Amino acid sequence: MRRFGFLAFGAATVAAAVLAVLGYLSLRQWEASAEVLLREQARDMAAMAAERVRMTILKAEEECLLDLQTALMDPAFRPETLEPWVKRTRIVGRAYVLDRQGRLLFPVPARPEDAAVLSGLLAEISQGFWDRGGRRHVTAGDQVLSVAVLRTAAGAPLLVALARDEDVLRRDVLAPGLGGLEGKSVLAVLDRADRTVYASRPLDGAQRVLTVPFGDALPAWRVALYQPEGLSPRDVVRRQTAMFTGAFALLLVVIALGLGATYRMVRRESEMARLKSDFVANVSHDLKTPLSLIRMFAETLELDRLPGEAARREYYGVITRESERLTRLINNVLDFSRIESGRQRYDLRPTPVEPLVHEAVEAFRHPLAQGGFKVEVDVAPDLPEVSLDAEAMGQALANLIDNAIKYSGEGRRLAVAARRGEGGAEVWIEVADDGIGIPAAERERIFDKFYRVGRSETQGRRGSGLGLALVKHVVEAHGGRVTVDSRPGAGSRFAIRLPVAG
Ligand code: ADP
Repeated sequence: MRRFGFLAFGAATVAAAVLAVLGYLSLRQWEASAEVLLREQARDMAAMAAERVRMTILKAEEECLLDLQTALMDPAFRPETLEPWVKRTRIVGRAYVLDRQGRLLFPVPARPEDAAVLSGLLAEISQGFWDRGGRRHVTAGDQVLSVAVLRTAAGAPLLVALARDEDVLRRDVLAPGLGGLEGKSVLAVLDRADRTVYASRPLDGAQRVLTVPFGDALPAWRVALYQPEGLSPRDVVRRQTAMFTGAFALLLVVIALGLGATYRMVRRESEMARLKSDFVANVSHDLKTPLSLIRMFAETLELDRLPGEAARREYYGVITRESERLTRLINNVLDFSRIESGRQRYDLRPTPVEPLVHEAVEAFRHPLAQGGFKVEVDVAPDLPEVSLDAEAMGQALANLIDNAIKYSGEGRRLAVAARRGEGGAEVWIEVADDGIGIPAAERERIFDKFYRVGRSETQGRRGSGLGLALVKHVVEAHGGRVTVDSRPGAGSRFAIRLPVAG
């Protein structure tokens, strides 16, 4: 049973250690993958927003070019008619129309700021593009142009370049495309120099988590995802890791406490099993000794071989004393079993203390006389009656006196005193001896059931280890307490402290 207990304890310890290591490793792994995952989610969100914006721009520009193509197919088309058209389209800030020779047909005359845009545009357009046609984006000067080759009703190719109105872009494309984001993240658009072109919400204090390009529709700009302080993937993961670590540490502490408690329990159980087996051996021996004495003396008396009346009386005395001892021992065991099963009842009545003390000492008259003890009994004259169960308290007192005799050593003195204590609120019954004393470390444990100080056994004093446990139980059931004051080698003083009613 004991080995099994220790094996189970060892297995649980190993399991807890494995759990701790696995927990640590998986937490580290989770920490690494969670940050990647959160970053990926954020990137997806930003990329989706960028795509939304790109599609809106492309669609708007496509519509404008189609509209323009329809206008060009009209034989009455004049480039000057483009002026109101540009105003009408929302997204187009400026439009340029050039013929195959590279002459500017619109706007005429060219504005000074158009020169850089136009030269950049012509440098980017190849011969092939004139022939192939189609659409593309060209960065010229600081503008992004949506360029296409369209044909007039007469079939002449014209190069059309549309530049965007940034204010309209911000208001009509970026705001609906990037705003309306749920949660605390903020989407912003940055230009090449990291200046904020647009932000879905004020950025104050938010940290940039990542940026995603728009592609050729907006080559100079990027979508940036911001998260408020403490909400970036790293912070979130760090916080969760700290939380998991805390919870896990708590779990380990609980497991460790559980293991500690189990270990203590197993130790206690095995100690209890040992004490119980000692108890059986001790009680059997204690029963056997008086029984053999009684039998021996009774047989001698029966044979009537004794020289005189005095010897006969002495033999009777021995038989009486030994049977009293036997009764005390059996009473202790019976009381103990009643206490253990919760059946012990005490019949409390107001009782004078003096006769109780004298009767208890009187019961030990013979062993005291035989051992040559100096007996001092001192009962204060003015003691009040105490509410107690005389039989149980008599037994408790007898146990203390029995111990004082048993553990007397060389100093043969028994002092029993009863007096008022705690300013009159208590009555103290004290039993003192000049015996072997009790080491300080043992003073608490001697009141435990079955517990005996190892030394007493080696010195050949038999006992059951129940005496003081019963004294403690009886006294506490009376609302009192029992204390011990002792010095090894110099003697012990036990005190039963009982409250005085009212
Ligand atoms: P036991 O049957 O062993 O006497 P007790 O419960 O009465 O059992 O006492 C528990 C232990 O306390 C004893 O084994 C002894 O070691 C110690 N003890 C009790 N009374 C005294 C005393 N008066 N002097 C020295 N040791 C004592």
